[in-house]
Amino acid sequence: MTGGMRGTAKLSARLIASFAILLGCLTLTSGIGDGGEQWLRTFRDGLHPRPPTRDIVIVEIDAKSLKDIANWPWPRRYHAALIDQLRLAGARSIAFDVDFSASTSAADDTALAQSLARAGGAVILPTFRQALSSSSAEFSENLPIPMLRAHAFLASVNIHPDSEGQVRTYENGVETAHVIRPSLAGMLAERSGSGSASFTIDQSIDPSAIPRVSFVDVMKGRVPGSVLAGKRVLIGATAIELGDRYAMPRHGVIPGVVIQAMAAETLLQGLTNPDRGGIPLLVLAAIAVLLAARERRNRAQIAWLCSGTISTLAIPLVLEISGSGTLDAIPALATLALATGGLAARAIVAEFHRKTMIDDDTLLPNARAFGRLTLRPGQIVVAGRLARFGEIQSVLGRSTTSELVRRAAERITLVARDKAVFLMNQDAFVWIADTADQSELDERIAALAALFRAPMQIGNRNIEVSLNCGAMLVGNEDPRTAAARALVAADYASEHGLRWTLHNATLGAEIDWKLALLSELDTALATGQISVVYQPKADIATGRITSAEALVRWQHPERGTVPPDHFIPAIEQAGRVMDLSLFVMRDALDQLSAWLGMGLDMQVAVNVSTPLLDDPRFADEVAAAILRADVSPARLTLEITESAALADPDRAVAAMERLRALGVRLSIDDYGTGQSTLTYLKRLPASEIKIDKSFVQDMVSNRSDQILVRSTIDLAHELGFKVVAEGVEDAACLALLRTMGCDTAQGWHIGKPVAGSALAPMVAPADVIAA
Ligand code: C2E
Ligand code: MG
Ligand code: MG
Repeated sequence: MTGGMRGTAKLSARLIASFAILLGCLTLTSGIGDGGEQWLRTFRDGLHPRPPTRDIVIVEIDAKSLKDIANWPWPRRYHAALIDQLRLAGARSIAFDVDFSASTSAADDTALAQSLARAGGAVILPTFRQALSSSSAEFSENLPIPMLRAHAFLASVNIHPDSEGQVRTYENGVETAHVIRPSLAGMLAERSGSGSASFTIDQSIDPSAIPRVSFVDVMKGRVPGSVLAGKRVLIGATAIELGDRYAMPRHGVIPGVVIQAMAAETLLQGLTNPDRGGIPLLVLAAIAVLLAARERRNRAQIAWLCSGTISTLAIPLVLEISGSGTLDAIPALATLALATGGLAARAIVAEFHRKTMIDDDTLLPNARAFGRLTLRPGQIVVAGRLARFGEIQSVLGRSTTSELVRRAAERITLVARDKAVFLMNQDAFVWIADTADQSELDERIAALAALFRAPMQIGNRNIEVSLNCGAMLVGNEDPRTAAARALVAADYASEHGLRWTLHNATLGAEIDWKLALLSELDTALATGQISVVYQPKADIATGRITSAEALVRWQHPERGTVPPDHFIPAIEQAGRVMDLSLFVMRDALDQLSAWLGMGLDMQVAVNVSTPLLDDPRFADEVAAAILRADVSPARLTLEITESAALADPDRAVAAMERLRALGVRLSIDDYGTGQSTLTYLKRLPASEIKIDKSFVQDMVSNRSDQILVRSTIDLAHELGFKVVAEGVEDAACLALLRTMGCDTAQGWHIGKPVAGSALAPMVAPADVIAA
């Protein structure tokens, strides 16, 4: 990947981190995490259950006591008796969570008051703060009746469930109408409470382990003194029928007196753990998140995020266990969670991107990946296209073709010297040359061609493949354009039989022009811009014109006459050559029919485009055209270029057999430009060869051309071919061909290509025409 891509990735990771930290800050300031915070604290308390001090003993007004001592509410002399018993047992302090705010019988109230007095005023009695009415915002404090409170300490027993109805916190003291009342738990634990500040009841204390004894047993002296000696005794109701029960997060619904005991235990064990807020852990999480965002590897990111999360969870736990306070973890956790989610999503997206940059079949980086590269001006992008890919694929099937493409990429990699090779589409590769020197590049591409000369062995097949190369000198174009241009150059090289070409402006203009022509083809055919001219061929022995070759012409309204060599390859590549060929074929057969009608003993030759040989419809179309024109098929010659016959001999033979079966004559055009031997051509069902004009034109002055033409004529005759020489430009050439025994001559000396009607006067009428 490039530096550029990494830059953006890093930026977005930082952005994610910043967002995460922002979310943490919002959580911190808005307080939306409070519920979660409490849940976490309860959860942490559950992780380290701890025993109570056993310093506090609950004297329960339980079911058993209610059963033993009938007539509830109990006469207050029982409470008096209880206090006496507790003092006798040596209790350290005595606190009641029992309502004494209403008077009972004077005797009982007095008995309790006296007992309290005997205790020296050390017994703690409860007060309740409550609203004056359910609609009132004013509060009053319910106190024990004056007779009792004269001999006792007073302490508040208010319990405050939170909005969810759970008791989590406990107030140090309660202020009602400017009177500050310390809490019962505070007095019991002998901690002075400050105003209405509250603390969290430590839920790790197991309430069921707090020692309890039945009221009735104590009152009747049935509890051994050792159980109560030196203890802080809390008296309250636990029997269900007496109500006074509250929900606690970890412990369910428990009696109020037990909650008082737990609050006192929390104080005694020093576990009030003041909340030191969310900032410290948020800072820690922010550091972890920023460090993670700096990392490039997923693992390193996970390591930082995990350390952050573990610390955020562990630090409050350690603080709480040691009683040093607690910290809010939710803002930090929100930060870490968002960062984890964001970075994970980013990693998934990156992985997805990576996958979309790989070709599924070959696992090579694809065009999209190439498009992501940053090219430097002066670099050379090289492209190679596998020749005859469509055929290869149709024969081999998809998976073997993928294997072939992979092997081709391996060969290219050898020459590309470790530069990545990208698969642009199924048959085209591009890579960046490791040299900017064109002669060096030429050597590399020559080496590549040499590598490709060895057939590829795939399974039990030996497959011959070749690669057409092109290159593009990078200016300021984007990678995809550079690749496309290099491929255009590769196609150009293959059309022109070059090893490779460098893309240049002319080539670009030519392509542009070809594309424009293609789009105009239909109009051109319909409006007569495209026409056919006929070039005469003369029988050398008699000097008579016996035949004519149909040659297509495009008279373009803006470009003038466009030579067929220019537009036919483009039309062939675009797969549109059938239309054009049939147009020429029909014109030629109509022309033939016209000549025959005029009593001229003529034949006609039509050029066959190479791609049509592979098209099974072509033979049918030819047959239909012959039928339509109602001429003898033997008067039609189809010219097939030597290179087409060479490319794939077996297929060429098969295609030519199909055409031959129609009764037409076949001719091998441009003979001599390929490297085929005549003996090889003997395999083809052709009856004629046309020696290419490049050998004929200068034959008179060029000895070696002369030798070549002469020997070709001799051998061709020996093998049973008729011989046509094209490019006969003067009389000397024609005379020489006559001495060589050549059969037919075609060239400017015989006649230039002209309209069919213009040709008729040049042809001598035959006496008898075999139609
Ligand atoms: P070809 O079939 O070898 O056609 C002969 C070419 O040589 C023609 O060029 C003709 O004008 C040119 N020629 C004829 N006599 C002389 C001469 O004495 N001296 C020189 N220097 N040239 C001469 P043209 O018409 O430009 O056609 C070029 C090629 O385009 C043809 O080569 C043929 O391969 C292709 N072509 C032309 N018409 C058609 C067509 O209808 N269908 C297909 N598939 N190809 C066509
Ligand atoms: Mg020809
Ligand atoms: Mg030719």
